[in-house]
Amino acid sequence: MAKRGDFDFYCEQALSGKTPVKKIYESARVLAFYHTKSKFETHIVIIPKEHIHDLTHLKDHHNNLVLEIVKVAIDIAKTLDMESKGVRLVTNIGKFQETPHLHFHLISGEKTF
Ligand SMILES: [Zn+2]
Repeated sequence: MAKRGDFDFYCEQALSGKTPVKKIYESARVLAFYHTKSKFETHIVIIPKEHIHDLTHLKDHHNNLVLEIVKVAIDIAKTLDMESKGVRLVTNIGKFQETPHLHFHLISGEKTF
């Protein structure tokens, strides 16, 4: 098994289609889908289609991409009525990042495990 942090599930599985994901939003630049191993009542993952390692690798030309991701998060939170249960939008850098491709967890509700 690949060691933590070096397997890019998003490029290799989700975006390639090798692992089917339940999409909730898709554009030319952004994909949002239900987490495949959710540990919360609602757990959405939002990713750029372009491979970007993490937040620290963003360049000025990514500004609109980041804005789109934030807007998508807000839209999904509203659409799924997540606000009543509390919402977190989380991204990780360094040792907290399990998958080496920028991604945002949009989470609401209690842990389900
Ligand atoms: Zn990637």
